[in-house]
Amino acid sequence: MIVELISVGTELLMGNIVNTNAQYLAEQCAGLGISMYTQVVIGDNPERLADTVRTALLRSDVIMLTGGLGPTEDDLTKATVAEAMGKKIVRDARSVERIKQYFEGGIYRAITENNWKQADVIEGSLVLDNNNGLAPGMIAEKDGKAAILLPGPPHEMIPMFEEFVKPYLKEKSGRVIRSVMMKCCGIGESQTETMILDIIDRQENPTVATYAKTGEVHVRVTAGAGSEKEAERLLDPVVAQIRERLGEYLFTCEEKKTLEEVIAEQLLKRGETIVTAESCTGGMIAARLVNVPGISGVFKEGFITYANEAKCKELGVREKTIRQFGVVSSEVVTEMAEGAARRAGADLALSVSGIAGPDGGTEEKPVGLVYIGCYYHGTTVARRYLFKGNRQKVREQTTQYALTAAWRMLNDSLDRSE
Ligand code: ATP
Ligand code: MG
Repeated sequence: MIVELISVGTELLMGNIVNTNAQYLAEQCAGLGISMYTQVVIGDNPERLADTVRTALLRSDVIMLTGGLGPTEDDLTKATVAEAMGKKIVRDARSVERIKQYFEGGIYRAITENNWKQADVIEGSLVLDNNNGLAPGMIAEKDGKAAILLPGPPHEMIPMFEEFVKPYLKEKSGRVIRSVMMKCCGIGESQTETMILDIIDRQENPTVATYAKTGEVHVRVTAGAGSEKEAERLLDPVVAQIRERLGEYLFTCEEKKTLEEVIAEQLLKRGETIVTAESCTGGMIAARLVNVPGISGVFKEGFITYANEAKCKELGVREKTIRQFGVVSSEVVTEMAEGAARRAGADLALSVSGIAGPDGGTEEKPVGLVYIGCYYHGTTVARRYLFKGNRQKVREQTTQYALTAAWRMLNDSLDRSE
């Protein structure tokens, strides 16, 4: 089954808004194992939209449109699709009722005439209730083809897709899709791909795709089959094979799990605690940890020691060490981590010191130079990084790699090189 996406809206074409709907829907279709070969962005122009819809109906089984379902003049998706499919527009009684209810007791009491337009639907279509707005969505079918019309605002479109469209697509495609998300850290995308290139190359079912995130690479393995069992039978050996290759970088196979959650879980299981000592990240590592519900069981305190004196006063870093090696050095992050662990009585300590820029870099210590220290059970490992990007990017990468360092330490991988 081939799906085509048509994003309607002049403001998309003009670059006034980002087409996040396309990103969401494309990802959803990929997750459902449905092929999306084409995406079109088209303005609020009846002729060009009609043309786009007709072309799409020729080459795709299902066309999905977002935007242009509202009450105003430029909202012409319904009328255009109806015409392209040779269908009429009719007023939907249920939607009329819903609009009435919506306005009752609301702040805009007067219902302007154009609002009723939102109760107009394509004849014979399946009307999709909009629980977060006024304009309903709809699915119109003809000659085995289907057009799915969704509202533009993401907070209306996404719940509607989840509730009605996803089950519809699943059923229509007649396929069961299972996928496993394998999340790795401390490895780049190109290296990951090289390590599993032969698996990627011979992929068909399951498909294998890599996604690069800041400091993480996610590998999605997706199998489609007639039944759940069959999909899993296809999936298992490929997942096992990838696990064998990437195992030392793999921190979870759970879609929703984050690196900080995995760290928190491992610490919790061991009854151990973590402390942070941050300079250039200014609390970002602590903030990531605090994202995890239940972190209070393992995270007792975080130091933000920005000035040299603070590093000495709060963490016991020696002035001599700073003078001799500079504050951005493996010696200083080592003393920061060890000092933090000692003062907080924690089992694991993370420390960072770096030059986030844009100023402050020298030839010897350029912007982006960061040292990350990690103390665990009497051993401290300090690593040097040279991150690219602006101040925010450098700080984000530092945060990510600090968490990676903690995970590596916890998984007893001291000798793993970069
Ligand atoms: P409304 O009833 O609000 O008019 P609509 O279904 O007619 O909704 P549009 O008028 O095309 O949709 O777009 C309304 C708003 O929805 C846009 O101003 C924009 O904020 C958001 N939007 C529309 N299309 C997209 C898209 N593809 N990606 C992200 N946001 C979008
Ligand atoms: Mg509109």
